[in-house]
Formats: sequence, structure tokens, C-alpha cells
Amino acid sequence: MSLNNSLDIDIIKVNSSKIESIDFENLTFGNVFTDHMLICDFKEGAWQKPIIKPYEPFLIDPSAKVFHYGQAIFEGMKAYKDSNNDVWMFRPEENFHRFNKSAVRMAMPEVTETIFMDGLKTILDIDRDWVKFGVGNTLYIRPFMIAVGSGVIAQPSTQYRFMIILSPAKSYYSGEVKVIIAEHYSRAANGGIGAAKAAGNYSAQFYPTKLANEKGFQQIIWTDDATHTKLEEAGTMNVFFRINDTLFTAPTSERILDGVTRKSLIDIAKREGMDVQIRSILVEELINAAKDGSLKEVFGAGTAAVVSPISAFSFQDIEYALPKIENSFALQLKEKLTNIQYKLAEDTFGWTVKV
Ligand SMILES: *Cc1c(COP(=O)(O)O)cnc(C)c1O
Repeated sequence: MSLNNSLDIDIIKVNSSKIESIDFENLTFGNVFTDHMLICDFKEGAWQKPIIKPYEPFLIDPSAKVFHYGQAIFEGMKAYKDSNNDVWMFRPEENFHRFNKSAVRMAMPEVTETIFMDGLKTILDIDRDWVKFGVGNTLYIRPFMIAVGSGVIAQPSTQYRFMIILSPAKSYYSGEVKVIIAEHYSRAANGGIGAAKAAGNYSAQFYPTKLANEKGFQQIIWTDDATHTKLEEAGTMNVFFRINDTLFTAPTSERILDGVTRKSLIDIAKREGMDVQIRSILVEELINAAKDGSLKEVFGAGTAAVVSPISAFSFQDIEYALPKIENSFALQLKEKLTNIQYKLAEDTFGWTVKV
């Protein structure tokens, strides 16, 4: 699949790229940005002409609604380079649709497909040298939208700014991830904004995660807010459980974000003939499986780390260690998925889109 570009856009390129000053071997995630950024403003009820210009800070009024009422949404996706030096995106239309779903939930305007998709293609093409060849090298793509209209009156803004920024990344090994199962705090509630990729969902997680960190755990497995008996997400990732040779993950809901990695892993697992069951998993089931030895793996799934194996979990102050196993489903699925993303395996699903 490839995109036809029909975007009317202004482009101001940097005089000289900063790429030579970047140490691509020692990148920490999300700290370095490419030469350019895309900006598209929404005012008077319409999206204005987008511009790609040098990456730099910009001014916003202190009374802008994003600062006071949190109208802010984002996406996270990646671009990859293959051995022919071609740059590829992975299922970008999924991110486009999810972005607009988030926008609707936050009473923000939907961005047009042309601005999102052709904007992406255009900025990736301009900064294509920042996508490095070789497995593990990616360009992390961060589209986002904020309410820039001024006035501390609590109502939706009439002015918004959509932007795309790009950050080169190395695949990271998250190290041992130990998690606490949430018994009190919640990431999301029925009727809330948990299914939107809204900034506020992240700030809401920071404090409980900090408490978990202080106890020696890296992340929290979120449970349903009403009963804290159903396992829902792992930190900011979807979560999978392997009991014997069956893979379980919860269905998406108002409380669970519809992750592109999650749904891609489900499709790959099914193609590989694995037994995948999409249903709620109870904390109790997890503990029983840990006790009788049938629990083999727990892992998070998301764009940034792809899969993040969990080594232990804690519930009611009792810690349960996961066994060390060979033939990890998590690692097999990760390899199959990244091989498609890097064009090392045939993309039988038609997921990759050339820039
Ligand atoms: C972004 C996100 C995910 C993962 O989604 P991907 O599309 O796979 O990156 C999962 N859970 C939450 C809460 C998220 O914000």
C-alpha cells in the first residue's frame, strides 16, 4: 500500500540539519527530535493550511484551555527503514481513526484524513534520513492535538493545534518488569476517557505508579474500577496472559485502549495457530494459575516496547514470580511482528504503508 499525496502545505526546511550531532547508538527514548515539525491550526471552525517548519518552541497564551482543562490527545506510532532504504509506516490508518475517536471524546475537532495521513507522509519524507536501517532502529511518531484557545472559562476551546513531531529511537529492553495489581487506584472508569488516548489518562497514572515504584515494582496492572477483580491493562500497554498454551487478553471496552499492537499480535497468534481467547481474565484466575504452575507468561503490548515481558506480579502484598521459560510466546510474537514492520517477512496482512 502506498499513499497518494494531495496535501496543500507550506514547507520551510532547516538551513542545516542537526543529524550529524546525534549519537544514534545511545538514544534514550523520546528525548531527541528530528529537524522538522508539522503544525496545523484549527480556527473559525476550519482546519487551516498546514506547515512543516524547523522544530522549535512556540508561544501559547497562558490562559489556553489545554493548561486549565486538559484538552489534549495524542498518538504513538513508528516508521521503519528496509534494506532498500525505503521508509514504512505500520497501520497508520488505525492511528488516524483512533486519533479522531479520541478527539470526539474530548470535544475536539476531528482532523481530516488528508492532513493526518498526507501530513505524516510529507514530514517523514523530509526527515527520512532520521529513520536508520537495522532492526531495533525506529522513528517514533507523535501526532498530538491541544486546545490553544485562550480564556479560563470551563468550556471547550474554539481553537486547536494539531502537530506531528518525530523522535529517533532504539528498541529498548525494558529490563525485569515487576507489576502490582491495582486494588484501589483506577486508570479508567466506565463512562470515562480510558478508551481515548488523552493526556489526562497518563497524568492520572503517575501517582499510583510512583507508589508502586517505591515498593520496587515498575508498573501497575490496572483492574476494572468497579470491582478490581478483572485484569485490564499493564501500565500504558495492553496485557496478555499465557496459561498453559492459551493466550488470553481482555476485550476492548470503555476502560481499555484499543491498541494496534494488541490487535496485530492477536491476528499473528491466530495465523500461527495459537489458541487465543479474548475475554475478561479475573485476578483470581491469574493467582490460581500462578499457584498451580499453569501460568507461563504475562506481557504488555504497545508500540514503544512492542512486548514487555513481566517477571513477577504482586497482589495483596504477596509476590508471585513468573517461571523462566523457553519458547516464550511473547518473544515469538514480537519477532513475527517486527519482521513484518521491517519488511523482513512477507506482510500477508497488508499492514505496512510505504512513505
Ligand atoms: C497507547 C496505549 C496502548 C498501546 O496502543 P498501541 O496502539 O499498541 O501503541 C495501550 N494502552 C494504553 C492505555 C495506551 O495509551
